[in-house]
Amino acid sequence: MSTALAPVTPAAKAPVRPYQDYVYAYPHKTAYRPLPDRPALRDLWRAEPKGALALYAHIPFCEVRCGFCNLFTRVGAPGDLTTRYLDALDRQAVAVREALGGEEPVRFGAAAFGGGTPTFLEAGELERLCDIAERRMGAPLGAIPLSVEASPATATGDRLDVLVARGATRISLGVQSFVEDEARAAVRPQRRADVEAALGRIREAGVPVLNIDLIYGIDGQTPASWRASLDAALAWRPEELYLYPLYARPKTPLHTRTAVDDPAWDAQRLALYRQGRDHLLASGYEQTSMRMFRRAGAPVQGPDDHACQSDGMIGLGCGARSYTSGLHYSFDYAVGAPQVRSIIDAYVATGDFSRAVHGRRIEGDEPRRRYLLQSLLQAAGMPTADYAARFGSTPEADFPAELGDFAARGWLDEAAGPACLRLSPEGLAHSDAVGPALFSAAVRAAMAAYEAK
Ligand code: SF4
Repeated sequence: MSTALAPVTPAAKAPVRPYQDYVYAYPHKTAYRPLPDRPALRDLWRAEPKGALALYAHIPFCEVRCGFCNLFTRVGAPGDLTTRYLDALDRQAVAVREALGGEEPVRFGAAAFGGGTPTFLEAGELERLCDIAERRMGAPLGAIPLSVEASPATATGDRLDVLVARGATRISLGVQSFVEDEARAAVRPQRRADVEAALGRIREAGVPVLNIDLIYGIDGQTPASWRASLDAALAWRPEELYLYPLYARPKTPLHTRTAVDDPAWDAQRLALYRQGRDHLLASGYEQTSMRMFRRAGAPVQGPDDHACQSDGMIGLGCGARSYTSGLHYSFDYAVGAPQVRSIIDAYVATGDFSRAVHGRRIEGDEPRRRYLLQSLLQAAGMPTADYAARFGSTPEADFPAELGDFAARGWLDEAAGPACLRLSPEGLAHSDAVGPALFSAAVRAAMAAYEAK
């Protein structure tokens, strides 16, 4: 660390809660607001580089609402809602592709279907989704990494066959726990036999990368039961494993039942995190971020946690974000069932997708914050030369107070040397406190003013 950091005051070293916010994108959607000028997508994208765009399609349907989930999704799709949703997605894709223009080559370097649960769609509907990505947007799914999220009940053989045939290189299965009582406690009831059968189908389908999501901090979970879930996952030799701390966020079913600020819960989660990390490291996995572990030698086929530093992201669907260098935009965001339903209904009724309606401008020091935040949360850290090349400055000069605080807490790896800014193992364990500490005052205020719905 540079000696240019601000002196650390005793107040700066007061204990902080380790589980404040999972920062997988900055700024969070709760900092987005309606855009009064409704800028035309054509203008937003005119000067943007388009040689390596990422495509993300959001499918906001699930069979159940998991107790911990604050993603934009609804339970079920009555009548022909999935058809009407894909109709709208198609209209949006046409409008977005037109806005990208034809003056310079538009190329996609990666694609992902997320949600919700994309495999909630039936096989024929998944074909249509792939057609939209390929024929409308021009994303060559068979030639680029394609990651798809799935749940055990919806990862059926026919749907997996479609996805593999269309080029899926990574399937991420939300298991959360192999222990049935824990799955019930997390309000994600499922039978272990069904989970194992889904894993078998995914392996049989021959997808190059299998990711399994697990959760720690569930009511009643013990080191022994956590170990049992880890070992059950490891038995499949997944190329990737994500270990998520349980959260009880506003508007989720767990929010009313769990003490959000309970220090004992924080201690349980920290202990289970360390146990899980150590077990995976001893089992031949490398840690990529606080949550992500990759089997040594496994192919890299999906987007790394936090790693999307490029600004060119095209989101399709009403929960998807799009990023240009100066604006992040999406549609309105909600977690509560009635609000989600009405946003989806408005989306499927939309005829004109040529403008951005909801978002946040990325200006002032926000690009630096975003870059630092998303780089620092990677286990490999950030080469300081990359930051200097991009911004003509150093992170220590731009964020002396924040980095001084991290250093005083022992969250920075002194052994990384001046060429690399990297979190220590304890810093990585506190990623969900590190990230929020780098939010700007303006983003913090917007998030605080957001009324959960
Ligand atoms: S965790 Fe996944 S499966 Fe569960 S409600 Fe959220 S998006 Fe749906």
